[in-house]
Amino acid sequence: MVGTCPRYDYGVPVNDSTTAAPQPQAVLVTGGNRGIGLAIARSFAEAGHDVVVTHRSGQPPEGLRGVVCDVTDTASVDRAFTEAEEILGRPVEVLVANAGITKDGLLMRMSDEDFDAVLDTNLTGAFRCARRAVKGMIRARHGRIVLISSVVGLLGGAGQTNYSASKAGLVGLARSITRELGGRGITANVVAPGFIETEMTEQLSEDLQKSYRASIPAGRFATADEVARVVRWVAGPDAAYVSGAVIPVDGGLGMGH
Ligand code: NDP
Repeated sequence: MVGTCPRYDYGVPVNDSTTAAPQPQAVLVTGGNRGIGLAIARSFAEAGHDVVVTHRSGQPPEGLRGVVCDVTDTASVDRAFTEAEEILGRPVEVLVANAGITKDGLLMRMSDEDFDAVLDTNLTGAFRCARRAVKGMIRARHGRIVLISSVVGLLGGAGQTNYSASKAGLVGLARSITRELGGRGITANVVAPGFIETEMTEQLSEDLQKSYRASIPAGRFATADEVARVVRWVAGPDAAYVSGAVIPVDGGLGMGH
């Protein structure tokens, strides 16, 4: 009787996420005050989740709750998580490590400071946040870590040795977390955007935008919301068995690696 068979897989009941009522998740998005991070935070909030963003200065964006955090400072990260957990009323279940910077330059001319600054923010910053986040996730035996990388992490980018190395490092970080904590109900994945319509890409000349678009199989840049939707999916119940993955949101630009 196929229709009435219980859905078991090697003795482990399969969680039918399509019929379970969606639960609001406690979400922290670093660098959620603008750009892609803001789009991710708004997307979670609009879907009914409980969201806190980090910002370095000023006020949080309208309609969102925020905590001050500099991801290059361990004490600041720890403080921000404690404050976020007070606001959320429970430990962070979904960490979106989005904060990032660029300091581009040719290899021969790149200073130690510019290399270190990008690694410290993009890679060590994500490590600091993940280390703090898993405290609560291990206790809850549930957690979702989403690291925002870049197509350049695996494709490389001339003038971006620091940025590309930092974004490639996130893959090792996610995969090691997966091996270490996959058995505790924690997933860690990398989302790798390509060209996204942001203030940065808007400032490129029309000619440059045209030549970049020509190199993208999809023939266009993505919206920040298209990245946000993928982040939400990988943080959600339908992606419970996806971990250590690199998920491109790049219109095909980086395929082949
Ligand atoms: P933005 O420059 O618009 O925003 C970067 C965010 O990171 C800001 O909120 C910024 O805060 C925050 N941030 C930077 N340094 C720190 C720090 N030390 N501590 C805490 N927060 C910090 O970037 P995008 O929205 O364009 O990019 C977001 C992420 O997506 C980055 O990781 C980027 O590498 C990645 N990405 C972007 C692409 C694009 O086309 N834009 C393509 C591929 C990947 P503050 O406002 O205080 O400066």
